Amino acid sequence: MTPAKRKITVLPGDGIGPEVVDSALEIIQATGVAVEFEKCEAGARAFAKGIVTGIPKETIESIERTRVVLKGPLETPIGHGNRSANVTLRTLFETYGNIRPVRELPGVHTAFTGRQLDIVIVRENIEDLYAGIEYMQTPGVAESLKLISREGCEKIVKLAFAFAIAEGRKAVHCATKSNILKLTEGLLQHTFEELAPQYPSITSKHILIDNAAHQLAMRPEQFDVIVTTNMNGDILSDLTSGLTGGLGFAPSANIGNDVSIFEAVHGSAPDIAGKNKANPTALILSAAMMLRQISEGKAANDVEQAVLVTLESGIRTSDMLGSEQPTSTTDFTREVISNLGKTSKVSPPKKYTNVELPAARPGVNVVPAKSRKLTGVDIYIESDLEPNALASDLEGLTSSSPLTLQMITNRGAIVFPSMGRGVSLVDHYRCRFVLRDASSGLGESDILSLLGSIGVGHRWMHVEKLQEFDGEQAYSKSQV
Ligand code: NAP
Repeated sequence: MTPAKRKITVLPGDGIGPEVVDSALEIIQATGVAVEFEKCEAGARAFAKGIVTGIPKETIESIERTRVVLKGPLETPIGHGNRSANVTLRTLFETYGNIRPVRELPGVHTAFTGRQLDIVIVRENIEDLYAGIEYMQTPGVAESLKLISREGCEKIVKLAFAFAIAEGRKAVHCATKSNILKLTEGLLQHTFEELAPQYPSITSKHILIDNAAHQLAMRPEQFDVIVTTNMNGDILSDLTSGLTGGLGFAPSANIGNDVSIFEAVHGSAPDIAGKNKANPTALILSAAMMLRQISEGKAANDVEQAVLVTLESGIRTSDMLGSEQPTSTTDFTREVISNLGKTSKVSPPKKYTNVELPAARPGVNVVPAKSRKLTGVDIYIESDLEPNALASDLEGLTSSSPLTLQMITNRGAIVFPSMGRGVSLVDHYRCRFVLRDASSGLGESDILSLLGSIGVGHRWMHVEKLQEFDGEQAYSKSQV
């Protein structure tokens, strides 16, 4: 009996998506692996049919069956309204880790040619600002919540080290903005520094994200694996793709415990869509990562090697430097197929072992605190009053509360008590109330009655409790 073919969900996507996806599918088929493709819809066409997520039910069902996806780029409607279908897919199937490797490729000339770049960005993929929790707090002030969890940090750090070990890599850098965002970005740094000693064969180092960008432009060869938060990783991985030839060469894998999604880093490039001009390399290399994941390691190596041999032979796609007579997407594909089975002269196949994914923890993940204390509350108020006038109004309204006004900030700058410097103001104030008597206890009902008093004279839109966990302040100090 012929063994059943491994099913793969394929999302051709938008813009150049169908062209580069077709290229990868032809090449996969030419390797002879026993796979079967379930082509499904997602993105612009689904949005146009009124599917608000951009992901039809049939597509979700196919992914639940196959648990492996090869996808083209999906366009995100710009402006108000729909959420990105990409973000929805990543969140829905909890693909928490995005692995984005780049390396020097033969025949692809860049400012860094000869420096043997081989860098992998491991980007947290579902938390951070990309959770997309946003509010207009006033008609003129928008808010986005940057949520980072200990659970999310542990998973991405463990994935980065597991990936480094599987690929025989030497070093993992953790890149964050923890000097400014001490609690959110700092959580990734602290988790990294806590877990790194469990991987003694790998050198580990924390680096600030802005310095990482600078170092990547100056001395990129010092980096091996970089683990980072979602938005940092999005930006940094476009940068690293630029170091090695551009978006046309940058593959990626979105890794989850149940589902993995393989796609190019690039988007739908509408300017070149339908012109048979797109470079399919990024999607082909993403397909090779997918083949490796479904235990088709030989086919994965064959595809990678065929791409390298094709580039070595001097074939140029339109996005490459020195491409006066660029080859088309379809001709490039034919060339790769004809090179299957050949080995690159400069970059022979690497040895890979399976990535040991951190085990999924069922249920609600909790970081316990031995002690907790409620010490105050920040109340966000929309007001066109000057800070001193607002302060005296609030003090009047809350004179009988156990809480007293400690300070007011406007976009992070302290405006009450006055710091003696003029600040350009918007109608969005954070008003911090703390206990008049620090030795007394504070309860929820005190906060509710404070809100009631303030609500008599002002429009409040957001409340944050000020807490201490295990004696540590669980909120940021104000920026002056
Ligand atoms: P983009 O589609 O990546 O394109 C930026 C530019 O890069 C293109 O205009 C083109 O430059 C070049 N390029 C990208 N891929 C190429 C390839 N394979 N071959 C040759 N040149 C390539 O970025 P964007 O214009 O910012 O985004 C367009 C749409 O894609 C947006 O709707 C965005 O939301 C979506 N997007 C989707 C994903 C995803 O699905 N994962 C990722 C990113 C963006 P030239 O001008 O030189 O031709």
